[in-house]
Amino acid sequence: MAEGRVDYRLQRRVALDNLSVASRALEQHCDAHPELLRAAKHLGEPRGEDCPVCDEVELVSLHYAFLQNGPKSQGGRVVEPARLARYAERHGDLLVYEVEVCRGCHWNHLVSQRSVRRPARAVGTA
Ligand SMILES: [Zn+2]
Repeated sequence: MAEGRVDYRLQRRVALDNLSVASRALEQHCDAHPELLRAAKHLGEPRGEDCPVCDEVELVSLHYAFLQNGPKSQGGRVVEPARLARYAERHGDLLVYEVEVCRGCHWNHLVSQRSVRRPARAVGTA
């Protein structure tokens, strides 16, 4: 189900290193879109890890699911990880981006991307 996962942890560390070098970068990285913040507030799942930037607020995760065969203009939908398989079953193959967000200082970072395949059995039964 979770194949082709790409981990962006290294990029995260690099981003954090850059933060410590240039304080100006803080603004650049803490640019969470209002929609992202709203989703984080209502749908974010605690990561059990404090924000690496402000060190005050626990990070939350959001999983954005995009239809692989859908129009590119179509925005991703926030889907709980436990519901991704069912979502794929109903809508088709998905590309899922996990984003971590700080609801305090608005730090946000792409944690990983992976594809979730629609279960073969479900094809044509919708
Ligand atoms: Zn923070």
